[in-house]
Amino acid sequence: MAYSDKVREIYKEQLKDIENAGIFKQERFIHSTQAADIEVEYPAGSSLKKVINMCANNYLGLSSHPEVVKAAHEGLDSRGYGMSSVRFICGTQDIHNELEKKVSEFLGTENTILFPSCMDANAGVFEAILGSEDVMISDRLVHASIIDGIRLCSAERDTFKHSNMEHLEKKLQLHADKRLKVVITDGVFSMDGDCAKLDEMVALCAKYDAMLFVDESHASGFIGKTGRGTHEKYGVLGKIDIITTTFGKALGGASGGCVSGRKELVEICRQKARPYLFSNTIAPVVVSGVLKVLDILSRSTERRDKLEKNTEYWRKGLTEAGFVLKEGDTPIVPVMLFNAKLAQDVSRDLYEEGIYAIGFFFPVVSKGQARIRTQISAGHEIHHLDKALVAFNKVGKKYDILGKTKQAILDRYGQ
Ligand SMILES: *Cc1c(COP(=O)(O)O)cnc(C)c1O
Repeated sequence: MAYSDKVREIYKEQLKDIENAGIFKQERFIHSTQAADIEVEYPAGSSLKKVINMCANNYLGLSSHPEVVKAAHEGLDSRGYGMSSVRFICGTQDIHNELEKKVSEFLGTENTILFPSCMDANAGVFEAILGSEDVMISDRLVHASIIDGIRLCSAERDTFKHSNMEHLEKKLQLHADKRLKVVITDGVFSMDGDCAKLDEMVALCAKYDAMLFVDESHASGFIGKTGRGTHEKYGVLGKIDIITTTFGKALGGASGGCVSGRKELVEICRQKARPYLFSNTIAPVVVSGVLKVLDILSRSTERRDKLEKNTEYWRKGLTEAGFVLKEGDTPIVPVMLFNAKLAQDVSRDLYEEGIYAIGFFFPVVSKGQARIRTQISAGHEIHHLDKALVAFNKVGKKYDILGKTKQAILDRYGQ
């Protein structure tokens, strides 16, 4: 069918529905590097505004760290700009191999395979390692990219209630007769900032002869005493069969991801995972940057320690101000507003005060669970956090939500 007026109308209609629902996503243009202080053009065409970024995945403040930028430059000079090939034809350099070894060392795994992104790692891994005699049992709040990967795989699908170990055990019993069983979870859940109970999950998987898959995108580099991830925090290093993670968040924030874990599984991915076989290799400049990031993190825990301190300071400040927070101890700190419009209004007013933090509401989170998700970074200094706390206090007062319970906010604003 030609791209007729009728076709155009169908799409315009859909876009209008999105707008009417109040969830049309407007791009904001950042004119600076990614850091605690950024310059933003928003809405498009308006003059630049200096704001403090409270919503990047730049947990360790490495996105524009001078050492990382320098290493990337050196990589660019010595290995060039692009490889113009997928990995298995002629897209593998010595540094790709070196990075796979370094990532395995860092995560405490047997082997690692790089993917263009963690989205691609999640999209490719299940189909590569499972077949129709097998089952995938996933937490109901796993990341969208895992859901897509599960959809692409012919194994049977089942879920368990979020972090509910009794329910998971029931499902493991239900599927006892399957050839292979994989339990699937995020290490740190991106919307609530809570951690999967990996110690209990490892024990359950051992009891019922299942493999454990953990997506560590919001954990690698800073969760656990030396930042290895959620498996370090729960004392189960070396016991996770399949880890996926991204280099697009704490680990420099550029792009790329991987599957890391048991060596046979990784080898199967090298033979069969479609995004590995059919999508271009990670650019040398990015590989060089990530190598430097791992080098920095292996030298010292200074950055993840600072992140932990910043997070404590931030949580304490917001709690004292009287906001309702999601409980937890990760640098994902959701400020609960419950009502979608309220979340948007608070976000807009914070922006006016020079604080950049985004409102999340249905369908990204459930109805009645609207929030501002703040994310803390080792790139924040106390003066950033203090300024942000002043702004949150001012805006919280304006909407009369300080010291109010969830029910009181819901009574006043509705879902
Ligand atoms: C961000 C994220 C991804 C996607 O990572 P990319 O490398 O950007 O594709 C996958 N899983 C989880 C849990 C994430 O938070």
